[in-house]
Amino acid sequence: MPNIAVIGAGVNGVASAIKILEHYQKEGNGIPVKVTIISEEFSPNTTGDGSAGLWGPYLLGGTEKSKVYKWSKNMHSFLEQIWLSEDAGEAGVCLVPCIRLSTSTVDTVEDFWRDIVYGALDLTAEQLAVYNQGRSVKFTSGLSFVTYTSEPVKLLPYLMKRFARNGGAVVQQKVTDLERFITESPYDVIVNCSGLGSRELLNDDQMYAVRGQVSRVKANWMFSAVLDESDDGNYIIPNTESVVLGGTHQERDYNTRVCEKDKKLIVDGCRQFVPGLCHTKPLFDWVGLRPGRANLRLEAERRGQKLLIHNYGHGGSGVTLCWGCADDVLDLLLAAKNISKL
Ligand SMILES: Cc1cc2nc3c(=O)[nH]c(=O)nc-3n(C[C@H](O)[C@H](O)[C@H](O)COP(=O)(O)OP(=O)(O)OC[C@H]3O[C@@H](n4cnc5c(N)ncnc54)[C@H](O)[C@@H]3O)c2cc1C
Repeated sequence: MPNIAVIGAGVNGVASAIKILEHYQKEGNGIPVKVTIISEEFSPNTTGDGSAGLWGPYLLGGTEKSKVYKWSKNMHSFLEQIWLSEDAGEAGVCLVPCIRLSTSTVDTVEDFWRDIVYGALDLTAEQLAVYNQGRSVKFTSGLSFVTYTSEPVKLLPYLMKRFARNGGAVVQQKVTDLERFITESPYDVIVNCSGLGSRELLNDDQMYAVRGQVSRVKANWMFSAVLDESDDGNYIIPNTESVVLGGTHQERDYNTRVCEKDKKLIVDGCRQFVPGLCHTKPLFDWVGLRPGRANLRLEAERRGQKLLIHNYGHGGSGVTLCWGCADDVLDLLLAAKNISKL
């Protein structure tokens, strides 16, 4: 039986592991496989666990837009399926009305994905004026639409349960030497979904942290998301039990401690959008390091009779892209010839 290891239990590792396992379990797709997720950390300690999990391509370096479109569309369809099923509550999938705003005088809100989300419409001058009240730097364009949040703190346990139910195995381990792991481990295929961990694991100097700090508050009356796309812009994203106020995106900053200055910018900035937020109960602050890369890396390499597939560098969109990228991981696996036992 082919033996497949997926390194990493973040959204990308878990999505890739499920895609492979479920593909081979379908009748007519050949031999059964063994799939093991090997990871140093699991939910709730992965990067996605602190994120709001809002669908939307963001901070992806120079990754080709046509690929981002395909991957993110695939995830949107997956979320739609969950939303329409009885699993939506357990998986933390919610429909959310969103407003994205831009202060750019050159471009409008980035929207190459506007036909993927529901009901995208440009804001009128009258609608923009409402958001511009009392602001010195004015918004020049805006887009309203409806999409999904799939908060990883719920999505990951849901997916892990689905993986285990289908016979997937789990090992808690840090892989310190990838070359040795490839040569000495019993796995025929290794899928590397180690996120920012790839910086050390592969000496990949194209990888860098994009630090993100957020504040979670209790505000059960907040049902819609507002996002300012400017460089130092704020965002407000409701989840099922809390609301995420954001946020920073500091490139090459590896500090995982909460910074009080950032917190003030987040809280004050979000209150400018929604003054009622001053009545909310603060829950906790959180910092995560997004796996930034010049380009997302999704490709396969041969290592003798073994296959190594890379799927990392998802920047600020790992949740948005995970299901689509996992599809490509499976395609790379199916396209590989002469891998022992496959
Ligand atoms: C503040 C903030 C807000 C965000 N909001 C959103 C959002 O709304 N929507 C969205 O789409 N994205 C969002 N993101 C981005 C998203 O969280 C990341 O892109 C995503 O979590 C990356 O997932 P991943 O599986 O690739 O990596 P990770 O989640 O970082 O997982 C990597 C896994 O690999 C394991 N690992 C690493 N090295 C090793 C090793 N050597 N051996 C064994 N295991 C190893 C780790 O333990 C971990 O389990 C946000 C990020 C931040 C910080």
